[in-house]
Amino acid sequence: MSRVLVIGCGGVAQVAIQKCCQVDDVFTDICIASRTVSKCDALKEKLEGKTKTKMTTAKVNADNKDEVVALIKSYQPDLVMNIALPYQDLTIMDACLEAGVNYMDTANYEPEDTDDPSWRAIYEKRCTEKGFSAYFDYSWQWAYKKKFEEAGLTALLGCGFDPGVTQAYCAYAKKHEFDTIDTIDILDCNGGDHGYAFATNFNPEVNLREVSAPGSYIENNKWVEIPAMSIKREYNFDGVGKKDMYLLHHEEIESLNVNIPEAKRIRFFMTFGQSYLDHMRCLEDVGMLSTSPVMFEGKEIVPIKFLKALLPDPATLGERTVGKTNIGCIFTGKKDGQEKSYYIYNICDHQECYKEVGSQAVSYTTGVPAMCGALMLLEKKWNKAGVYTVEEFDPDPFIAALDQYGLPKKENHHPVLVD
Ligand code: NDP
Repeated sequence: MSRVLVIGCGGVAQVAIQKCCQVDDVFTDICIASRTVSKCDALKEKLEGKTKTKMTTAKVNADNKDEVVALIKSYQPDLVMNIALPYQDLTIMDACLEAGVNYMDTANYEPEDTDDPSWRAIYEKRCTEKGFSAYFDYSWQWAYKKKFEEAGLTALLGCGFDPGVTQAYCAYAKKHEFDTIDTIDILDCNGGDHGYAFATNFNPEVNLREVSAPGSYIENNKWVEIPAMSIKREYNFDGVGKKDMYLLHHEEIESLNVNIPEAKRIRFFMTFGQSYLDHMRCLEDVGMLSTSPVMFEGKEIVPIKFLKALLPDPATLGERTVGKTNIGCIFTGKKDGQEKSYYIYNICDHQECYKEVGSQAVSYTTGVPAMCGALMLLEKKWNKAGVYTVEEFDPDPFIAALDQYGLPKKENHHPVLVD
């Protein structure tokens, strides 16, 4: 019996909520809240009669801490699942502390306005000190560790697939396969085709900012930064086939470098088709990816937000997307004095996801782990006060839940390595 407040009702949240409703003996009560309450009402209507979970909806602007505190106090949840946008992470964490409730999210904090001088001063200092220039990093949320510990509350950060499951795979490899891990390569392949010349698989603003940023990775425990898309490899993915993939900065590299410090090299690769890259380069060249407001016909607009309004809503891609995703981690290291390698991954089919929950696999592979992470917190399998990323918990019950609820693992003890 537990009450959960879900903030956000976009592509990922809609999957997470539907999966929670499949586990209605645990998720007995859910409140779905966002600024556009009609979207929350539509999902509630779709699910009613198909689940025992009692659902309510609410309007909330999660940029406003007081509104979130008021909603938490009136609904009295055991857990707040933040599946809105990374911009809201800190206000929702503050609200959870004030109202005394556990917190989780699927992506680490980044500011909506990267021109804000007070944020920028801290950001520029971090770029120099740490050596990577992505707009997002864990420092903002790790700064809440002591406050959550003292309040006896848990904050679980980044519980989607990547970040999220990829870190559980690292903890699993460390627990079951290796005495020491030397290298980690995270490979995110989307072999899906939606038939549009250009569309993003999740929130366009967050997605385009992530992939247009410089790439970075850990080598000998230090950050190395490279121009965007400048390291390319080809890999033959199980279930998908050969794809080009590019080295990107990704948030779990930062936490894995802290929590698995013996790993000398940690890299993240994502596949992109040529059409996606050509469109992105062109949009960037003409300034459409900018987050700085410009005046247009007497009205202030933010180019990337305007672009988001023109692009297909990721939540509508499901019906037309065919093909599979394959996401996982390749490790090298030692066990009992012997060198070994290991690959753990999941293959997910876009159309199977659509048949089950009406979404494509990118939302599905994020929404299912969000539900499984919530399940770990509600069933007290992951139960310690403070702020944690996924690799800091026992991976076994989480990976067993993923196996059960739609994202089964596959393993290969002799994988082809990435050079
Ligand atoms: P969408 O844009 O589809 O949905 C975002 C939702 O948040 C909308 O329902 C929006 O509704 C709501 N929202 C936005 N701002 C506010 C606000 N101020 N107050 C309340 N609600 C708000 O995004 P996705 O579902 O694609 O992504 C959700 C999250 O998942 C993002 O943080 C994304 O980075 C993360 N993600 C993580 C992945 C992983 O593997 N870890 C992979 C993919 C995504 P409204 O506008 O009505 O308020």
